[in-house]
Amino acid sequence: MTEARILGVRVDCLGMGATLGRIEQFADEGGIHLVATVNPEFVMRAQRDREFARVLESAGLCLPDGMGVVWAARRQGCALRETVSGVDLIQPLAAMCARRGFRLFLLGAAPGVAGELAATLRLANPTLEVASHSGGPEPAQEAETLKLIHEHGSQLLLVAFGAPAQELWIDRLRNRLGVAVAIGVGGAFDFLTGRVPRAPAWMRKAGLEWLFRLVRQPWRIRRMAVLPIYAVKVLSSAKS
Ligand code: UDP
Repeated sequence: MTEARILGVRVDCLGMGATLGRIEQFADEGGIHLVATVNPEFVMRAQRDREFARVLESAGLCLPDGMGVVWAARRQGCALRETVSGVDLIQPLAAMCARRGFRLFLLGAAPGVAGELAATLRLANPTLEVASHSGGPEPAQEAETLKLIHEHGSQLLLVAFGAPAQELWIDRLRNRLGVAVAIGVGGAFDFLTGRVPRAPAWMRKAGLEWLFRLVRQPWRIRRMAVLPIYAVKVLSSAKS
């Protein structure tokens, strides 16, 4: 099985290696391809937000970000061994860009964060051409952001505005970005620069990353309130 449908939202049954291969192919083809990292909050939002559902449906890839999505996809016969999150994707993606000569642009997060991550990625991959800008999803920032992306001549763009702002932003500007691949990565830059600690591996494997995030960032409680509803809905939906 190549894809699952979780409460109507597509999730591609790909692990990290196959995902990197597909993104490399997208970059070779030219664009534009949206890559979404789908977690249970995405699935629940898509139930009531038709525009967000439409944008997810238009994506070239919908990656399984989070154990809640891997669990639901496995119930339908998806042979997924792991989650493929934005945080885990960025370093191997940077290595692939360096190897293939693709130019990478990091957009979003608080001022200085994307720049710091760019420096780290450059250190690990000396031939990597990477640029960064904190920017923002507001239309007033659009012109400057587009100018920087065009000047850099990027093929791959990572957007860290949080969901659904980043996916809607990519969709709105899809024909003006000039990149082959645009990936919404949420809070990944904050994790990779150590600003927000990541849950230990055992918690992530046990599907408890949400609990770790909740303890560290209690304001997430409102967004997470949908998680039990998600579990009940998945359990009561047909297996395939
Ligand atoms: N962010 C931003 N501009 C905005 C709002 C948010 O750059 O106008 C950034 C914020 O700094 C953070 C990321 O978007 O780095 C959102 O992180 P969060 O963990 O909330 O996203 P999620 O992964 O939950 O979608």
